Amino acid sequence: MDAAPRRIRLLSSQFANQIAAGEVVERPASVLKELLENSIDAGADRIEVEVEKGGVGLIRVRDNGAGIHHEDLALALSPHATSKVADQNDLAHLKSLGFRGEALASIASVSRLSITTRRKADEQGWRAEGPAAEITPAAHPPGTTVEVRELFFNTPGRRKFLRSESTEWGHLEQVFRRLALSRFEVGFSLTHNRRRILQVRCGRESDALERRIGEVTGRAFLKTSVSVDFSAAGLHLWGRVAGPEAARSQADLQYFYVNHRLVRDRLIGHALRQAHRDVLPVGRYPGYVLFLELDPTQVDVNVHPTKHEVRFREARLIHDFLYRAVRDALEPGLSAAVPQVEQPAIQVTPYPKTELRPASETAIRESITGYARLLAGTAAVPRSTPRSTAEPKRTLGRLVDILFENYLLTEHVDGARLIDGGAAREAIACHRLQAAWHDQTIRPQPLLVPESLEVERAAVVRLEQEPERLSRLGFELSPIGETTLMIRQQPAPLRRVQPIPLARALLEAMETGVDEPVLLRNLARCASTAHCRTLDRAAAEELLAELEPLAGELSGCWIRLTPEILARLFETDSV
Ligand code: ADP
Ligand code: MG
Repeated sequence: MDAAPRRIRLLSSQFANQIAAGEVVERPASVLKELLENSIDAGADRIEVEVEKGGVGLIRVRDNGAGIHHEDLALALSPHATSKVADQNDLAHLKSLGFRGEALASIASVSRLSITTRRKADEQGWRAEGPAAEITPAAHPPGTTVEVRELFFNTPGRRKFLRSESTEWGHLEQVFRRLALSRFEVGFSLTHNRRRILQVRCGRESDALERRIGEVTGRAFLKTSVSVDFSAAGLHLWGRVAGPEAARSQADLQYFYVNHRLVRDRLIGHALRQAHRDVLPVGRYPGYVLFLELDPTQVDVNVHPTKHEVRFREARLIHDFLYRAVRDALEPGLSAAVPQVEQPAIQVTPYPKTELRPASETAIRESITGYARLLAGTAAVPRSTPRSTAEPKRTLGRLVDILFENYLLTEHVDGARLIDGGAAREAIACHRLQAAWHDQTIRPQPLLVPESLEVERAAVVRLEQEPERLSRLGFELSPIGETTLMIRQQPAPLRRVQPIPLARALLEAMETGVDEPVLLRNLARCASTAHCRTLDRAAAEELLAELEPLAGELSGCWIRLTPEILARLFETDSV
């Protein structure tokens, strides 16, 4: 770089589009994805794809959809031009696959692109092509054809990253299969170097799902998979899941659609793996073709340029719902007993991002040492603004930081505190349970989706003898059969805890015949371990706020670090 700063200038629109294309157009397969999505959004029920040279030579997508008004043709090729959304409200209620208005402009900037289109009502078709998007009359049946030739011809940097023709073709074919599976009511065909690879007819009959899955994934999966069809709380999941004997050695048969949009999502992957956990041998992968349908306002698709990731408003609810739906499909004995519940959504907690990691002793030591230095530095500086008298009196201090996603470091005039988040949660849960118990009853929380639990016959008998005690504790566990319990309600103060471990803790405590205080403590302990949630800043502040009013009554979940204690720590360190 020169020493003198360069002057600022606007990029040419061609160059700006090429830069933007970096986000959506990675390879021929991404071009095909965008074009197919546009044809689907246009309401086509027949889409033909022709590919040459793995997609680098040509990708032509022809559809019989709504077409484009010829006065809008030039606009279709400009960035940020779309007919699908106009404002935030449209985005929140999105029904189309596209909405960014960027794909055609991006693709056109890195290839030789032409669009030919005709609306049904029009007498003739129109074509836009060339660098200036020149528009001329052209013959075309109702619908649209987009032709993309010589991808990356003008961006040698990108072209270098392309793999062999067969690799690019492999990616492209995969995209085709994924989209062909997403809509049964649309017929698709695909040719490569003039050879027909796949053709699927549009189908609206009741067996359309099975037929399409068979055509796209092969008959074997169809034979060895079971069907899924489950609804609760405004969510609907349907499709097919491979049984354990049909599990695969690769994760290559995993198709998941949210409102018909293909997504790859960690939350979904996690829920499905969990659902298979008991039936899958190590090193085998579940196979599935599943469609989740829900109110579009419950899911944000505008999180990623290629729209592969989504964000659910009630992530935990979705996670648990998927888990239940798939597990019941895999263990049909249970599903017959599970009623289809329609209940308002329970309070949900965010899906945990990472598991709690145990901290090594040296790591703790290092961290304390580091923070002690930091505190020593700041302690000497008097506060520039006096504390407002309206601020509640704090005994635990204000949050400085979070260590190892579990420990809260707070600072207070009488010393710093290191609070064990897990232990604090347990103490709070225990305190709340005891308070509720002394008020006679613990309020029950009905489960959105009842969970079933296999137990010993003796446990069922024991429960049946003490129905009142159970309901005072806020539980409803009803026996179905000799050794199965349905968990229908759990104590409201512990509503965020997974029901199964909680019910197990209850049964264990009842088996050993402990009295209530111990039983409540056991439940609280289970709550803090089963509810293993990593602490981010917001959660830590929340926990601290919950802990503060109880600080006088609880103990054992923090240590106080005074300057003297810290000094001693350093002494032993240097010996
Ligand atoms: P987006 O799909 O996000 O709106 P695109 O750049 O992919 O953005 O397309 C721009 C616009 O061109 C679309 O909003 C749509 O109106 C029109 N369009 C693109 N492809 C087709 C097609 N195959 N049939 C009809 N209209 C199309
Ligand atoms: Mg689009």
